[in-house]
Amino acid sequence: MSSAEQRREELKATWELARGCVKCPQLAATRQTVVFGAGNADADLMFVGEAPGANEDRRGLPFVGQAGGLLDQLLSEIGLRRDDVFIANVLKCRPPGNRDPLPQEIDNCQDYLFKQLELICPKLVCTLGNFATKLLRGDPATGITRLHGRAEVRTIGPREVRLYPLFHPAAALYTPSMVATLREDFSRIPDLLQEALPDDRPAPVPDVALAFEPVIEPSVAVAVVEQGRETSVVGQAAEPADQPSGEGPISESPRQAAADSPQLNLF
Ligand code: SF4
Repeated sequence: MSSAEQRREELKATWELARGCVKCPQLAATRQTVVFGAGNADADLMFVGEAPGANEDRRGLPFVGQAGGLLDQLLSEIGLRRDDVFIANVLKCRPPGNRDPLPQEIDNCQDYLFKQLELICPKLVCTLGNFATKLLRGDPATGITRLHGRAEVRTIGPREVRLYPLFHPAAALYTPSMVATLREDFSRIPDLLQEALPDDRPAPVPDVALAFEPVIEPSVAVAVVEQGRETSVVGQAAEPADQPSGEGPISESPRQAAADSPQLNLF
């Protein structure tokens, strides 16, 4: 089994654990889906946001509303598509009313994110907003206003990653000047992707085991379907969304990926 295949299989196993997780009782009781993440499971570029919103909760996909539309637009302006990257959140379940994640919830969920980072092995991780930035920098005192647009190499788990804090697109939606700043920060991403890391790929594929014991709903049935070559979604199957939170549908449906591709589609 190739390293890419091994990493994909580990990612699927992690998703299977997360989709039945009830470590945060309130979130588990109120969520509709666990929004594990979506994108290219072998991406060089990964985005980490805060938590699913209402539309994401219904569709099981991250960044499918207005903020996701802005993210797609900014990606297109630097020659990338959603399928080229992997998108995840600090929390995999929606906080009721879109409240801020609680410290205990972040603590409960962070190992899923660290596992994603370990298995996807991105060169560049763009943290979107305060929660992802503070968690992955390990510095709760320094906020995104001071850090945005400043790349730095950090050791996360077994490898070094270049972190690049950015404003959260949802925050920028209501502040035109912040959109301009976000666009300017995005423009540096192609160059950052070309910069070598001291500890660059290919990363070894350890015989990884989750460093935590997730609490699994016994009733959750797990079905994993690998599809054609270009499908790149990890998470729940989408359904049409209404837009109570002002968020719109994603611009394209998941496409099919080959069974031997590092990309995957989990239903
Ligand atoms: S730890 Fe993560 S996946 Fe588990 S219930 Fe909490 S937010 Fe959801």
